[in-house]
Amino acid sequence: MGIINILSKETVNKIAAGEVVADASSVVKELMENSIDAGSTSVRVKISQAGKKLIEVADNGSGIFTDDIPKVFLRNATSKIRDDISAISSLGFRGEALASIAQVSRITLITRTSDSELGTSVEAEEARIVSEKAVSANRGTTIRVTDLFYNLPARKKHISEDNTAAAQIIDTVGKIAISRPDISVTLINDNKTVFTTPGDGSLKNAAVCVYGRDALRGMMEMEFTDDPLYISGLIVSPAFIKDRPSYRIVILNGRYIESVSVNRAVDSAYNELTGKSSAQFILNMTLPYSMVDVNIHPAKKNVRFMNESLICMLVKQGVKDCLASQIEIKTHSSPDDIPEEEGWHSEAMVFDSLREYMPAAYRDYGTVKDNAPSYSDASAYQISDMLTVDRSSKTETEIGKPDTAVLNKDILLKLSNMEVIGNAFGLYALIEYGDDLYAMDTHAAHERVLYEKYLKAFNSHSIAVQELMTPVYVELSPKRCALITANADQLGELGFGVEEYSGNCILVRSIPMYLNDKDIAEIIRQISGEIESFGSSTDLAGRNALLIRCACHDAVRGRENISGEESRYLLRQLYETDMPFTCPHGRPILGKISEKYFMKVFERIK
Ligand code: ADP
Ligand code: MG
Repeated sequence: MGIINILSKETVNKIAAGEVVADASSVVKELMENSIDAGSTSVRVKISQAGKKLIEVADNGSGIFTDDIPKVFLRNATSKIRDDISAISSLGFRGEALASIAQVSRITLITRTSDSELGTSVEAEEARIVSEKAVSANRGTTIRVTDLFYNLPARKKHISEDNTAAAQIIDTVGKIAISRPDISVTLINDNKTVFTTPGDGSLKNAAVCVYGRDALRGMMEMEFTDDPLYISGLIVSPAFIKDRPSYRIVILNGRYIESVSVNRAVDSAYNELTGKSSAQFILNMTLPYSMVDVNIHPAKKNVRFMNESLICMLVKQGVKDCLASQIEIKTHSSPDDIPEEEGWHSEAMVFDSLREYMPAAYRDYGTVKDNAPSYSDASAYQISDMLTVDRSSKTETEIGKPDTAVLNKDILLKLSNMEVIGNAFGLYALIEYGDDLYAMDTHAAHERVLYEKYLKAFNSHSIAVQELMTPVYVELSPKRCALITANADQLGELGFGVEEYSGNCILVRSIPMYLNDKDIAEIIRQISGEIESFGSSTDLAGRNALLIRCACHDAVRGRENISGEESRYLLRQLYETDMPFTCPHGRPILGKISEKYFMKVFERIK
């Protein structure tokens, strides 16, 4: 006797529903996408008990024709495409979301189109309409989903136990709001407003409302066009990169997506120019619809690009161009801004680490006041309720967060034509310009200039090599010895002629000419450490790390008191580099202090 059964239609539908509506946040996502596809300019999302009790999405879009209402709960029923999936411009197209959601919840749908005076309200259970009546309603559609997963006990249990479910919904709604800044999105969680975006078309304004002003500090606007790609968005200035970035968002044609390859392209741009990675960013990319296949993932979170490597190359170029043209730095305009060793500074640290545990939308508590029009008082209370730790009630603005200032190539050019008025602490060249006193970290600047010089020489295979009259013996641990030997070829390309002498000793026969007068043993030791932490010098990051090491060794050290003329020459050379604002490790090269700062110190102004 055979053992294979044909499953009942009911079971088949529940299985299919599982693909689209994996959890409460995917229900929210599908409903919001429908609102967006309906041309709404305002979408309001309400949830209670992490969506288990209620998910309601109300929009002011086109509404649904009365004749179409019974069809919305049918599988494969859509108004968005007609059997052509080659160039999809809408967010939805499969006609399965409402059918799936209806299968696993109870739905109330209220809708009115502009050509009818009365709206219609229907209730559906297990995808069947159980009641229908005429109601007065605004134009648009409201879909209320209650008792989600009531007929899938295992999944329902998952929601109720998972206390991050609400955070996930907040995250999803935030990303959708940011991906469509032209639409005003409001999120209400358990009767409290989490955020409202203005819908004014500005990505930055939307992001500030969702993540808070502080999380957006140091974010620079970028714009880049190279056929067929157009990118606008926000990328972080190197000085504001966080260890754990709170957001890395890729939006493609109005849809937020997950793209490992775009993330990697951004990382490699940062890595090449600043030695850092894991930068926070929001990239809004536009490509011809025909170049993207959105039909490869059940929730459409992943897409396939035609010619992905070209797209990623352009993304990387766009990010590099932006980073190289200007950056934001931290400045202090008032002596009160400088933290004491003790006091509020340590409090601020408590505050920061606490924040990590909060959902993104709550994290930026300190800025609630700045955003008065966007946050209701209710949300401010809720957020401060979460911060019932032992700290004062000062906001971060009050406790003196440093200001930011923009540095760009114009300013750099002007500085390089000014007189260097002196050198502080044997390290910082001082230049007065406008109402500000600029300081250049001469070691960092020199490191940048040398690094790019060596990188260019490396890329054109023209690193000059110095054969040593007497080879240098360098003692290393057996592990590091083995690493150096294993990477001998790559080190050779960088100008180092090395070979194994014994299990714990390396013989150095040649070095790059530019390291002629340096402590070779020390450099080799550091390089072996670099290789140990990177694994290999063959990949780009590893090779860059080695070049950076060399540049660091060759650069002027602090306390060398380089002259004004030398500093000026350095500024000129810096101007010629591809990334004149940070050293290869990503630290700032230039800083500034305003005249106002001095006036406050000397009490000329209060
Ligand atoms: P899809 O979005 O793939 O078309 P759905 O199941 O999500 O499939 O929705 C089915 C249809 O219901 C849509 O094609 C659309 O015509 C209609 N619809 C759903 N939600 C809305 C809404 N908020 N406003 C207007 N029409 C809607
Ligand atoms: Mg849909």
